Amino acid sequence: MNRSPEPLTPPSSPKAKRVVVLGSTGSIGTSTLDVAAALPERITIVGLMAHIKWRELAEQCQRFRPAIAVLTDRSAFDQVDRSAFPVGTELKFGTDAACALAQESDVDVVVSAVVGAAGLHGTWAAVEAGKIVALANKETLVVAGALITELAARRNAKLLPVDSEHSAIFQALAHHPLAEVERVVLTASGGPFRGRTTAELERVTPEEALKHPTWVMGPKITIDSATLMNKALEVIEARWLFGLTAEQIDVIVHPESVIHSFVEFVDGSVLAQLSPPDMRLPIQYALTYPHRVPGPTKRLNWRALSQFRFEPVDRETFPALDLGMEVARRGGSCGAVLNGANEAAVARFLNHEFGFLEIARCVRAVLQSHHYDPTPTLEGLLALDRWARQEVGRWTPSPLNR
Ligand code: NDP
Ligand code: MG
Repeated sequence: MNRSPEPLTPPSSPKAKRVVVLGSTGSIGTSTLDVAAALPERITIVGLMAHIKWRELAEQCQRFRPAIAVLTDRSAFDQVDRSAFPVGTELKFGTDAACALAQESDVDVVVSAVVGAAGLHGTWAAVEAGKIVALANKETLVVAGALITELAARRNAKLLPVDSEHSAIFQALAHHPLAEVERVVLTASGGPFRGRTTAELERVTPEEALKHPTWVMGPKITIDSATLMNKALEVIEARWLFGLTAEQIDVIVHPESVIHSFVEFVDGSVLAQLSPPDMRLPIQYALTYPHRVPGPTKRLNWRALSQFRFEPVDRETFPALDLGMEVARRGGSCGAVLNGANEAAVARFLNHEFGFLEIARCVRAVLQSHHYDPTPTLEGLLALDRWARQEVGRWTPSPLNR
């Protein structure tokens, strides 16, 4: 663990939490900085990390004056104009520097907002150091849920959900013990292709899939929302965050994205959390927890809410969800394979090498062909992640789906 003798940045108020944002240039990262700008007496940004976008990172450093900034892409780091960064911000390179930043002794909260399994290292480092982790990077739990929750318990780290559905469940649970929970129901917007048939999905383009009806997000999660793989990953995320069984987790389509999930208790009572579809609210709740304070999120306009719709998921047209259910049930090595294969398949779809339907088809084939290990090590999971990506790289799409 890397200990700094001096505090990174003096706190703006004794109440302020000292926050590091991993993935600060992304959709969740920039929303986190909106929240920080709105709540300067509660949040002090002490470290920021991005991958490639050094100009955006430099602008963020000018605004928030963190002591440390990290870039993890080598060629981006080699091109950086250091004069774009403030004098008081030390610019560092690499994943190890990001992990060390997450472990700094005077950091209170680490926002884990890198996309994909690339976010695992920083999240792991923060958990290892016993930090409060505001977790957006669901892939960490999908790949290594058993190991990371066990590590968190051992190191007394806290995983606070940022994903809107899981924040809703966390809020509805409100310290009720697991034994009082019958089941949870995750809501899904249904994505841009809700109501389409398989035949209609054969030829949809990345550009169409990137148009989400209710949320503005990074490209990878937007494609995951179109295939419903995002909901599959969220089932696994819920399984690990709340210690549920796969059988206790259900999914329902709710196109308005206002009710962010339900918890049904053993007495039949159902609690839900509602708010406009704006990630700044769950981010803020994770950063100010256990307190609630006024923030930048708009209020629900009750007069404009004419109806809430609910529909079952069309599991035949969107088979990714059943893959998530299967992986939540089987555990072990399945999550790493599902996630690695999906990341590689989404990249190939965005690159116009795969048809839309090929994503779930290819992920299923890779999942089914892997050698299942019920108790993998972290090294084993990382090796499986690499293997799954290679398998997808070798996959030849059917001509119809190219
Ligand atoms: P974005 O693509 O918008 O941002 C990703 C961030 O991660 C950027 O800061 C990017 O840096 C950085 N990054 C990308 N690749 C790497 C890498 N290989 N190593 C290190 N850093 C990298 O993603 P989102 O903000 O949409 O999503 C982030 C996470 O939050 C995901 O796990 C997603 O599932 C989850 N989430 C997102 C929601 C949303 O509304 N967006 C909602 C709920 C969960 P750079 O910009 O420099 O490339
Ligand atoms: Mg979500």
